[in-house]
Amino acid sequence: MEMSTAPHAQFRETLADSGLQDAIYSATGRLMEKRLATIRPDVLPDYQELRERAGALKKLAIENLDYYLEQFESNVEARGGRVVWCRDAGEAAEFLVKLAREKDARLLTKVKSMTTEEIGLNEHLQQHGLEAVESDLGEFIVQLARSRPYHIVAPALNLTRYDVADLFTRTLGVERETVPENQTKIARRVLREKFLAADIGISGANFLVADSGAVVLVTNEGNGRMCTTLPRVHVAVAGIEKLIPRAQDLAVFLKLLGRSATGQPLTVYTSFLAGPRRANEADGPGEFYVLLLDNGRSRLLADREKRQSLYCIRCGACLNHCPVYRKIGGHNYPWVYSGPIGTVISPQFLGIAHDPWLPFASSLCGACAEVCPVKIDLPKLILELRGEVVKAQSREGASRLERLGFRVWSWLMRRPKLYELAGMMGSLVLSGSGDGKWLRGVPFPLSAGPLKAWTSVRDLPPLPSRSFRQMWRTRQAGSR
Ligand code: SF4
Repeated sequence: MEMSTAPHAQFRETLADSGLQDAIYSATGRLMEKRLATIRPDVLPDYQELRERAGALKKLAIENLDYYLEQFESNVEARGGRVVWCRDAGEAAEFLVKLAREKDARLLTKVKSMTTEEIGLNEHLQQHGLEAVESDLGEFIVQLARSRPYHIVAPALNLTRYDVADLFTRTLGVERETVPENQTKIARRVLREKFLAADIGISGANFLVADSGAVVLVTNEGNGRMCTTLPRVHVAVAGIEKLIPRAQDLAVFLKLLGRSATGQPLTVYTSFLAGPRRANEADGPGEFYVLLLDNGRSRLLADREKRQSLYCIRCGACLNHCPVYRKIGGHNYPWVYSGPIGTVISPQFLGIAHDPWLPFASSLCGACAEVCPVKIDLPKLILELRGEVVKAQSREGASRLERLGFRVWSWLMRRPKLYELAGMMGSLVLSGSGDGKWLRGVPFPLSAGPLKAWTSVRDLPPLPSRSFRQMWRTRQAGSR
């Protein structure tokens, strides 16, 4: 198994870009503050109970997914819609391309969806001569920049209004405009034409409701309704984990999602889409499809512990609170999902050998688990994945030196006299380079070994003049 290494140069570039650091830090900071203001005990006294309930409901849905998926399918069909089961990205794209040909469709408008990002749907469609236009403002900007989302909830979080001004001038040929409200007007003008001309609207789904066959979409910009009601056909692409048992469960999830994501008690638009337009209705698509995507999710289901990563409702709170995400940003993660949830699901979807450094890109501070509205134990899952990486690496012999080091350590710890002697020698070597101050590195020969990389990015505290054992002995002697 070939193990890839972390893209250090890319990390350094992000860390050295003070403008970008500022953008990430202030945007995530704002989202953190807003969240906090809407979950305060005087504002939402049952916040913790809601989290408990949301986690339990997700557990119920995930552990009985076969039942709820079938219930969902029969309810969609009872309302005149159709469910299409897709094993992977290829099957989802193939269905859409075929559908577009049948309907003689050229233009597809899209609502923001991480699931379609995950399967690279736009690229697939473009390869077949179809135009797929992102209609969420952030996603529209990301698409013009030919980039990928920087954040689950705020896709263009890394770009300033000046970046957007330049981008619009370059790609849309408009005059340079730096006022965000006017930039929105420009985007709206372009998108209105697309909405009116689109043949097919594509959305994701925030929730799939088993007992009613509804696709629930939570948006802030109104573009969702334009995409799902104006075109002749609406296709929702959703991971199978989006199921919730009952419509009434939304009373729990909707209270948590907006607050955790953007600090809103409720997002501006909550749409319930169930089936095509009925005979007595003026709006809505003539055809309604739900593509239920596996793409590796059933593999995650097989693992009793790690399957909880499928509870995620993509609120982005764990990203905002993660000290690692807040430094390295979204594009240094190997896949579309970034932050702690990306750290947990990417290795499970892509394979542990794909980016073995990823589970180690965490301080394990636990902030992510504390804010997760569905109570996923992210640090525990990260630790489990670290264990898997170590196992895989020892199978290929990569960590032989590390294992030897720990064996020597364990041998030494069981021999107190020798351990003390080794400690004294170590402090003798190190005290020469510290000068009573923080140690910026370790002296030769330690600096030539594996400690070199470790100490190149860490300083060590000054060594105390006496060891713990010496202090303990003095204390014991004094108390006699
Ligand atoms: S893991 Fe939890 S906090 Fe992170 S995006 Fe998913 S639901 Fe939100």
